[in-house]
Amino acid sequence: MMETMHSTGGVGLAASQLGTPWRVIVIGLPGEEDMALINPAVVRRTGERLVNEGCLSIPGYVGQIKRAESVRVKGRDQNGKEIRIKASELLAQALEHEIDHINGVLYIDHLESMDELRKIEPEETQL
Ligand SMILES: [Zn+2]
Repeated sequence: MMETMHSTGGVGLAASQLGTPWRVIVIGLPGEEDMALINPAVVRRTGERLVNEGCLSIPGYVGQIKRAESVRVKGRDQNGKEIRIKASELLAQALEHEIDHINGVLYIDHLESMDELRKIEPEETQL
């Protein structure tokens, strides 16, 4: 999954995007170590902010949606050990985005209308 994420230029990937039912996500932010989370869930959201978001499953487009300023996430690591993560900024956004995926939710579900989508600029990140 990490190879697929990096080869497609994304910073996160959910197993459901590869057609599997597993509740697994991987996150790989630039300059940070890759992380895999098994059965992750957001346990707390704090604050609200507008972000531009894109998705590898909807290539070529981004939309502006509301995400939390910070989140607390729990899950298990590759060894089955329970972990908790407190995240803000891009990591919080990536966690919310990928956890949405395994719950069958896409970022476009947070848009009021598909008219709010716009073509992506080359330097923009996809999740
Ligand atoms: Zn996505």
